[in-house]
Amino acid sequence: MTRINENYLNLQGSYLFAEVVRRAAAYRASGPKREVISLGIGDVSRPLAPAVVEALKKACDEMGRAETFRGYGPYEGYEFLRRAIAQHDYRARGVDIQDDEIFVSDGAKSDTACFAEVFSQQAVVAVQDPVYPVYVDSNVMAGRSGGFIGGKFSKIVYLPCTEKNGFSPLPPQERVDLAYLCSPNNPTGAVMTRQALQRWVDWANEHEAVILYDSAYEAFIREKELPRSIFEISGAKTCAVEFRSFSKTAGFTGTRCAYCVVPKDLTVKDAQGAVHHVRDLWLRRQSTKFNGVSYIVQRGAEAVFSPDGQKQTREAIDGYLNNAQVILRALRGAGFCVYGGENSPYVWLKTPNAMTSWEFFDFMLDKLQIVGTPGSGFGQCGEGFFRLTAFNTPDLTRQAAERIMQFPFKGECL
Ligand code: PLP
Repeated sequence: MTRINENYLNLQGSYLFAEVVRRAAAYRASGPKREVISLGIGDVSRPLAPAVVEALKKACDEMGRAETFRGYGPYEGYEFLRRAIAQHDYRARGVDIQDDEIFVSDGAKSDTACFAEVFSQQAVVAVQDPVYPVYVDSNVMAGRSGGFIGGKFSKIVYLPCTEKNGFSPLPPQERVDLAYLCSPNNPTGAVMTRQALQRWVDWANEHEAVILYDSAYEAFIREKELPRSIFEISGAKTCAVEFRSFSKTAGFTGTRCAYCVVPKDLTVKDAQGAVHHVRDLWLRRQSTKFNGVSYIVQRGAEAVFSPDGQKQTREAIDGYLNNAQVILRALRGAGFCVYGGENSPYVWLKTPNAMTSWEFFDFMLDKLQIVGTPGSGFGQCGEGFFRLTAFNTPDLTRQAAERIMQFPFKGECL
């Protein structure tokens, strides 16, 4: 008899977004007096940059001509895109990353979900709490989580992100092999400082741990002192993998292109103590399970690095950052305690009057006709918080801000 992978039985239902959609739909069906505005979306609202569209069209034409047609591409991505990434996103910023340390993929979701495959099944995993759920669920599927007891997986090490630690936890005291860090963080909007990241890198090198660093939102960082890449930190090449995406940087959520950086210096040992290069293991994995991103999409991604592409995508991000400021100003004006929203598209607010995250969700929907995401859905430490995003249009974001300002709240920060 064929049996299922029993690890899947440990997965918790994807309750959060389904429940958000259900409650918002029920409210809309009740005939509210004005439009419900979603500040809950994690998807972009601006179209692709014209430079990208041009490149996509040109690549389509190439695919239609015998002389320029391309079949299967390299598993790691075309050389033209790997070079553009390494040059513009790293070397031009003083970070020495080689073209062959870049692996192009169809998304940071698949990369962050799959990367741990190259490590031992017994590896102890640490995640920030609250957390982007993919890191947890993929390790549940892989059998690293243990059972779900009292709202947590017994074998996962949770790193509380709280007001007290500025949503930037210290490395754990206990043994951890793989630590997922996300900066700028989804959902808290916190950005790790150079000093905080240096502590993590030093910890990982000392304990032979690996940091899986998700910087899908690095393009939102505008403060010069904040690190955009973990490889700006000394020692990171021997302990970290970095995940990045064109999704939020260049509106590729529906077009699909991302990449990860696996330095040649990063090694792990097998049970006999022999040393293996993680880069080689990932290449082996990709060449077995992945057949590359389409040529057309990779040409589109390459155009992000052209002068016009850079200018146009920066303008789009500026627009989202401006939305974040509009939301922040409205919330602060109304008396909320607010975090994030600077160098990040995510605003993380403390619910007023000790409301739970879901009570506040219902309150926002009922009183302001605004949808957000309850913080408790991202982990236990998210309880009492609420996530708003800057990804809606400027007009709807402004309308939502006006509604918020009509409501004076009292929310106290620590
Ligand atoms: N990592 C984080 C922290 C995210 O928030 C998201 C998407 O919301 C992703 C990765 C997935 O990105 P992609 O669209 O490249 O799969």
